[in-house]
Parts: sequence; structure tokens; C-alpha cells
Amino acid sequence: MAIIGSQDVDASEWLDEAERVELPTGDKTVPATLGRLNGHELIVLPRNHSGRPLAPHAIDYRGNMEALVRAGVRKVLTTAMVASLRLAIPKDTMLLVDQFIEFTKDRQFTYFDDDNFGFADMTEPYCPVLREQLGRAAANVDIDIVPNACYVGVAGPRLETRAEIRMFALLGADIIGHTGTTDAVMAREAGLCFASVAGVITLGAGLIDQEMLVDNWHDSRRGHAARFRQIVTELTRTLEPDDDTRTGCRCAISAPIEK
Ligand SMILES: [Zn+2]
Repeated sequence: MAIIGSQDVDASEWLDEAERVELPTGDKTVPATLGRLNGHELIVLPRNHSGRPLAPHAIDYRGNMEALVRAGVRKVLTTAMVASLRLAIPKDTMLLVDQFIEFTKDRQFTYFDDDNFGFADMTEPYCPVLREQLGRAAANVDIDIVPNACYVGVAGPRLETRAEIRMFALLGADIIGHTGTTDAVMAREAGLCFASVAGVITLGAGLIDQEMLVDNWHDSRRGHAARFRQIVTELTRTLEPDDDTRTGCRCAISAPIEK
């Protein structure tokens, strides 16, 4: 199992037997932390591993997923720090994403090559088995988590206008972010099980009559990351020893290579 996370998910003091590794992608390597949790091997790969902040469109989404595929990973969990599109979803809410709407542009958008591609089934873009397991783990450690949420992915790095926030809510989305949809597409096209735990760090523009408090994002991010680690720790405690490779879902066969 692997985690693609924000910088807030610090693996070095979380995992047992943690060691820094360089995972090959074919033409380069990406840095990650390899360790164990409750007997399960876990790879934690920072989404932005350049050592400096990168704009969402500059992240090597495909390289990250290729590194995990080559490492033999079957299941990928991610964190997503998001803005809420609805007053009913306040700051610091945690949600399990179950659908997405794609509005990103000008970035890597597929795991496939130009001449070797397939039509991935996106009816259920997030693994239902992983989502159910994460929901149960959160309940076991008394962390409230909303079981369903629709994530709209946008290019960033700028934030949205009031009109955009209204539009995305009308389209049926609940939360908005920059990186989640691209990770989800790459994982499905690679045939991996994928789930995303979202944490609301702010409200969308115009939802409340005040400036968005960017200064407060950092505390909120750290809180979400800490709860995410708790949930994943509990998840690994409750999984069977062979659960890292056993799936019981359709994620792998939803990514056909046939044209
Ligand atoms: Zn699955």
C-alpha cells in the first residue's frame, strides 16, 4: 500500500523501520519513505517531492504513479486539502471522496502514452472497498468523516471567483482542489485501487462575508494530516496480512489497454 500525500504527512517518525528510498520511474527516480505499520509495508511518497514548492500543474503526477506501479503497489491512498463549496461543509470537515468533476487544464492528464492507451471506466473512480475500510477505521478511532463527496479539480494555483464557487456547487460538487483529479485518473488508468481523504481548510470565495484566512490554513492542514495518520494506522491494524494485494473490487479491470 502507498500514500501520496502533502508535505504535512511526515512519514519519518510515523512508520516503523522508516527508511528513505529512491523509487525508479523508468527515466529517473523519486524520493519516498518506506516503512511498516502494524506489519503492513507502506510507501509514503510526497506529491511534491522537488524540495521546493511546485505549482499544481508542475507536479509529476505520472512519474509518481509509475514509481508506485514499479514498486508493486496495488493500493494508493491520498490526502487532499480542499476548499468547501457549501456552508453545510465547514472548515476542518473530513470527507471520503467518491466522485469527481474535472476542470484542470495544461498538465499531464493521462497515464497512457499517445499510441498505447485505453478507455478507463470512471463510473466509480474511487475504490469502494478502500473507502469502506477507511470509513470503518475512522469510526473506530472516533474521527467524524463524511462518507461521500464530489471533488471538482481545477488548475490553480489561483483561487476561484465567487461566480466559479457558485457554479461548481450548482454542478453538484462539494469541495474543490488542485491535485486530486489528476491523481485519481493516473491511478485508475494504471489499474490501482485509489481512495482520497479530503480535509476542508477553508471555505470557497463568497460563502462567508470575510476575507479567506490563508494564515489559518497551516494549522488546519496539520490537523487533517494528524487525523489522516490516525485513520491509516487504524486501517492497517484491522487489515488481514494479505490485504495489501487482495482487492475484491473492479479497479484493476476498469483500466483496459485495448483501444
Ligand atoms: Zn479497488
